[in-house]
Amino acid sequence: MIEVTLTGTSGMIPLPGRFLSSCVIDYNGRKILIDCGEGTQVSLHKGKISISKIDAILITHCHADHVTGLPGLLLTIGNSGRTEPLHIIGPRGSTRILNTLLVVCGYLPYEVIMSEVHDSKVSTFEEIGLNITSIPLKHHMNCVGYSMELSLKPHFNPDKAKNLNVPLNLWRTLHDGKSVEVENDVITPDMVLEGARKPIKISYVTDTRPVPLIKKIVSGSDLFICEGMYGEDSQLENAAEKLHMTYSEAARIASEANVKELWLTHFSPSMSNPSEFIGYAKTIFPNTYVGRDHMSKTLKPEN
Ligand SMILES: [Zn+2]
Ligand SMILES: [Zn+2]
Repeated sequence: MIEVTLTGTSGMIPLPGRFLSSCVIDYNGRKILIDCGEGTQVSLHKGKISISKIDAILITHCHADHVTGLPGLLLTIGNSGRTEPLHIIGPRGSTRILNTLLVVCGYLPYEVIMSEVHDSKVSTFEEIGLNITSIPLKHHMNCVGYSMELSLKPHFNPDKAKNLNVPLNLWRTLHDGKSVEVENDVITPDMVLEGARKPIKISYVTDTRPVPLIKKIVSGSDLFICEGMYGEDSQLENAAEKLHMTYSEAARIASEANVKELWLTHFSPSMSNPSEFIGYAKTIFPNTYVGRDHMSKTLKPEN
């Protein structure tokens, strides 16, 4: 129902065989792209991801490895014939930086609508039918993570509706949460609907130290994508200084936040084989995967 694809897993510089960190969330054919570093549009092309269906680009922060691919991608989207507006959302201060970067685009045949989220408290907004919460992070510049939820309507119980003599043409109204009148009786949604369903939740956090708010917001995620800039615990001091994380720090958040699955991403170019260090994460959170470019997963409702 929601397809998540890592379109890059590298931090700082793109490598042959490893694009810069970015991610595509597809819900019913509409897409969100998270971050757009140098070469992201090549990765989208390689992964056969339709760029004309990207409705929103979420920017974590304006370091070059996360934004310098934007002008090229926006121009290619223009060439694909898009005329609908495209949203770009980033942390405080991103509009000024991105507008400067996008000067090189010249004319685009569609409107780019930019907005900013808070960098000291969570913001909530909606894109492609998903409820999104931004997470203020701790990095060398304003930086945010994003947690996306798809709310699921409770199941409709047709037997209950039939027993109450509700005509078929009113079932949808009840399923949408509105009451109806049948033979002078008011039928409320709770009379025909089953219990609440758990939303599908995906969280994406890169370029940060492990601040407490991450655990709180990503709690219960079906999929938690988190940076693992450094594999070995011996790199902790380095990670702390550069305001990044080690595998074990990411795994500790995943464990404490009770997520279902952890994907590591944003690897230091110094790690030629990020999988080599997976043991550091798996001892803390067994359901960890080391991200690879174009790794993909479809998330479906649990019930
Ligand atoms: Zn980065
Ligand atoms: Zn950064």
